[in-house]
Amino acid sequence: MKAMRLHAPRRALELDEVAAPEPGPGEVLLRVRACGVCRTDLHIADGELEGGRLPIVPGHEIVGTVAARGEGAGRFAEGDRIGVPWLGWSCGECGHCRAGRENLCDRARFTGFHRDGGYADYALADERFCFALPSTYGDVEAAPLLCAGLIGYRALAMAGDARRIGIYGFGAAAHIVAQVAAYQGRELYAFTRPGDSVAQDFARNLGCRWAGDSDATAPEQLDAALLFAPVGALVPLALAATRKGGSVVCAGIHMSDIPSFPYALLWGERSLKSVANLTRRDGEKFLRLAPLARVRTEVRRYPLPEANAALGDLRRGALSGAAVLVPV
Ligand SMILES: [Zn+2]
Ligand SMILES: [Zn+2]
Repeated sequence: MKAMRLHAPRRALELDEVAAPEPGPGEVLLRVRACGVCRTDLHIADGELEGGRLPIVPGHEIVGTVAARGEGAGRFAEGDRIGVPWLGWSCGECGHCRAGRENLCDRARFTGFHRDGGYADYALADERFCFALPSTYGDVEAAPLLCAGLIGYRALAMAGDARRIGIYGFGAAAHIVAQVAAYQGRELYAFTRPGDSVAQDFARNLGCRWAGDSDATAPEQLDAALLFAPVGALVPLALAATRKGGSVVCAGIHMSDIPSFPYALLWGERSLKSVANLTRRDGEKFLRLAPLARVRTEVRRYPLPEANAALGDLRRGALSGAAVLVPV
């Protein structure tokens, strides 16, 4: 089978011919139909995350059909279409796992980081961590739901019942969470790279009340802010835009350093928190909600061998919505 593999950080992925893997106990082998490209893949390719495996097949927004099942795997039938997210395995025994916070498990194994992911013709997954997918989405359209959608949803949930929500960085996650938040009757304010009028128009078309530059002042004080851009300098700006008692939620796995800022920005019981990974419960809840909220994903398709071009477009901010790889 063909796989796009990362052999060393800061090098382009290489198109390798490798043996198709065999499913072990509890695993399914998937024929990959589509795999989303996430900013985390860019952080992995750039060597910004510690602890991953090399060489690795990135990709943790996998839509595939079950081609074979390992011993004891019976949750899905051969031919079923399922999704594989970033959380590929957790221990099930530690305090975090037992408290329903498997996203924080110290021994968690992540797809496309510790385990080979979906930038390939075939991928293996532990069936317990896979999701059934709503039938209303095509393969390519479903892929971004599996990380951009899930993480956006977890970040939005952390904002509680906040009504006026600021979104910093309007890429794949934001374009999905904006539709969910609009469905829930919230008011959205989108902050983009200064001068990015394409992203600002995109945000308004998806129901945002206002869209402007990240250093602009929003027309209203925010109840909460969600940061999807990996830019630490946005944290003080977001705190300054948020009312007393409100929260600022950082949704990325990696962020540049946060500059020091006056305590007055945090004072007034504002809170600053991060979102780490996902739980299976998040996935189940979000994948039920997405079709109800009529979430539509804006996707750009790339043939699998063009994974480097997709990562390059993501790096340059040249995408509206999400890039998705399709095996050829
Ligand atoms: Zn991701
Ligand atoms: Zn655990």
